[in-house]
Amino acid sequence: RVAYVNGRYVPHSQAAVHIEDRGYQFADGVYEVCEILKGQIVDLTAHLDRLDRSLDELSIRHPMTRVAFVTVMKEVVARNRVRDGLLYIQVTRGVARRDHVFPGPEVAPSVIMSAKSVSIEKGLKAAEKGMSVITTPENRWDRVDIKTVGLLPNVLAKQKAKEAGAKEAWFVDKDGYVTEGGSTNAWIVLNDGKLVTRPADHGILRGITRSVVMKLAEKHGISVEERAFTVEESKSAREAFVTSASLVVMPVVKIDDQVIGDGTPGPVAIELRKTFHEAAELIKLT
Ligand code: PMP
Repeated sequence: RVAYVNGRYVPHSQAAVHIEDRGYQFADGVYEVCEILKGQIVDLTAHLDRLDRSLDELSIRHPMTRVAFVTVMKEVVARNRVRDGLLYIQVTRGVARRDHVFPGPEVAPSVIMSAKSVSIEKGLKAAEKGMSVITTPENRWDRVDIKTVGLLPNVLAKQKAKEAGAKEAWFVDKDGYVTEGGSTNAWIVLNDGKLVTRPADHGILRGITRSVVMKLAEKHGISVEERAFTVEESKSAREAFVTSASLVVMPVVKIDDQVIGDGTPGPVAIELRKTFHEAAELIKLT
């Protein structure tokens, strides 16, 4: 495997940044994860737009032009011979002597990219079974719309899920409303067939998959209510699912100890998963 590190393609096993990289010391950096499908980058434009926004929100200099970004992205996917998988991009404020305040303009941002293959069959199998989620109190800061590498609460929440035999943890705010998953956006399907997902304010990450599912739902004549829902409401929903670039649309069949529907993936989630890439942007590598 090969990774891109600050202008170089290096063996994955030797891909490293300095110990004083601000991403390492302060989580002072942002990232993106893109799905690679049949040798195409899924929703490339939306991911780069969100990356630009994350950088702007943190006043991190844009490390290179968009054309250069796309060139490196394609190169990393190609060099790793990834046909189906994930592409990871990270930009930090750079390497500087440890000091909380920003370094001067002489410090260039660090950029790394890597790509890995992920089996489509595995994803399909998982989706046929659906997954369990647990709920956990929201304990993140109030700007989780910025996709920073500061993911410790997400790490702890997902570990807690794993230890409970579940795949994801849904954060729940102090009023009992679900914000989002540790690495996914959360959705429910009401008994009248409507979809509900939380509005993309500062309290959730505006998922690219979420935006595409909203478009897709419209295409299928399914209405989407963008509003917060409580844990209680989710437990009596007809269906539930999560969305992310890595899971696409993944049915949720259990929330805490409550089985959702008949405990198998619901038809709406299955249909959205099947047709997802009709509504996505697919950019060929060559
Ligand atoms: N919320 C969080 C906290 C995430 O980490 C992710 C995945 N990056 C998502 C939502 C889903 O976003 P996307 O659909 O863009 O992958």
